[in-house]
Amino acid sequence: SVRQATLEAVTDGLTGLANRRHFDRVLARQVREAAEAGHSLCLIMCDIDHFKQVNDTWGHGVGDQVIRYVATTLRALAPPTALAARYGGEEYALLLPATNPAAAQAVAQELCERVRTRSLSRKSSGDIIGVVTVSSGVASLEGGEAGVSLVKRADACLYEAKRTGRNRVVTDLASQPALTEQSMRR
Ligand code: GH3
Ligand code: MG
Ligand code: MG
Repeated sequence: SVRQATLEAVTDGLTGLANRRHFDRVLARQVREAAEAGHSLCLIMCDIDHFKQVNDTWGHGVGDQVIRYVATTLRALAPPTALAARYGGEEYALLLPATNPAAAQAVAQELCERVRTRSLSRKSSGDIIGVVTVSSGVASLEGGEAGVSLVKRADACLYEAKRTGRNRVVTDLASQPALTEQSMRR
């Protein structure tokens, strides 16, 4: 049906999250809306740690299962207004409209904690795969900023989270005015 085809055009087949194309469109729209309304807009970029090892050890099928596990975890904690997308292979994006950086950071932290809570096992055999972890970068839209720049900054934070040990969240400090004010008052 037409409705089915429309849904498929915006959905990632493996995870059921929004696909990259849909994410890019919604990002552009939400950047415009946030600028117009003067609302904040945050982006979390999240990537599975040492995922190549999962594929190398267990094969592509188990790798796919792990990608779905993280997607399900992400979907379960995403607020109703958020857009959860599969950005690339084992990378996800969570777009959070009208959300301040501290709240976005809390969401990313929650994802990090929930993902590592469970020890995964192989569906077909019951073999223990073990714990997987994710790293995330968080950035908040700045005045006059374009979507691509927001993605770049969240990605830079993600890179920093990887560089400093993985299984963690790094937030763009430049986009944390609320936190800075608070700490200055203390
Ligand atoms: P890091 O902690 O730095 O992120 O290391 P990594 O091993 O997770 O990252 P790397 O980029 O080296 O490897 C990502 C791997 O993800 C490589 C690619 O083969 C695999 N991959 C990409 N898409 C899929 C997919 O749809 N299914 C499976 N099973 N693997 C995928
Ligand atoms: Mg990775
Ligand atoms: Mg990656």
